[in-house]
Amino acid sequence: MLDQSSTRLPQFKILGQPVHLCSDYTGWMVDRLQQGIGTHVVTMNAEIVIQANHDPELASIIDKAGLVTPDGAGIIMALKLHQIAQTRCAGIELGQKLLRLASQPEYDYPVFFYGGKPEIVKLAAQTWQTELPNLKIVGIEDGYIDRLGQARLREQLQLKQPKIILVALGVPRQEQWIRDNFDLCPGAIWVGVGGSFDVWSGVKARAPQIFRSLNLEWLYRIAQEPSRWQRALALPQFALLAVGERIKGKNKILSH
Ligand code: UDP
Repeated sequence: MLDQSSTRLPQFKILGQPVHLCSDYTGWMVDRLQQGIGTHVVTMNAEIVIQANHDPELASIIDKAGLVTPDGAGIIMALKLHQIAQTRCAGIELGQKLLRLASQPEYDYPVFFYGGKPEIVKLAAQTWQTELPNLKIVGIEDGYIDRLGQARLREQLQLKQPKIILVALGVPRQEQWIRDNFDLCPGAIWVGVGGSFDVWSGVKARAPQIFRSLNLEWLYRIAQEPSRWQRALALPQFALLAVGERIKGKNKILSH
């Protein structure tokens, strides 16, 4: 068993859920990769905090993840309430950074795309292959396969040993799937990237910069997919609870 203690990041809990604090998440992950230490990455947002507080299985997976990054303006604002200045690390941007890095000759990490509709994952992978001709995509699989497909997927992962595995199944499906399969490639970075393949394939648009800089990406997503409005109710709930938690007292940064 490798000693992971030297690579652990300080952690802060928001409404009971952890977030790791770091100035360079990608650099930290590369260090881990080079030491042969695998990492399950969860990109945390307000909605996931609320979801995890009602779902002990999800909370336990998050608690055990090697890295929980602050994805989402709500998390950054909640950290600010505790005078913690932390830059955002959204899943989609993290995925992009990792793919760019993987294609560099000094790293040359094999990558795997899993999730999304069949034509979507194919298009997303093609888009990246065109953008980064040196990128070594060792496999793709859609997110709607049956049991037999799952068995084949597991075989592929075991055989190809990708170093970067992007999983786009939505929360909590992707977190559960990563937990269940992590041991197949124990030295890899496994990231749940939600709807990123939909954006990379060109089927859905990412919120324009103006929405992102005003922390209104969630509003843009509801406008694009009105069926998401119910999920967005978690946002005001999170804001109220986070302010309440701050009023009650200051949380501690845990360095473990
Ligand atoms: N998805 C999948 N298999 C499933 C259910 C969902 O591959 O059984 C994919 C879906 O096609 C979409 C992604 O998971 O590409 C979920 O995207 P969403 O925007 O809901 O994720 P979020 O980041 O909001 O969790």
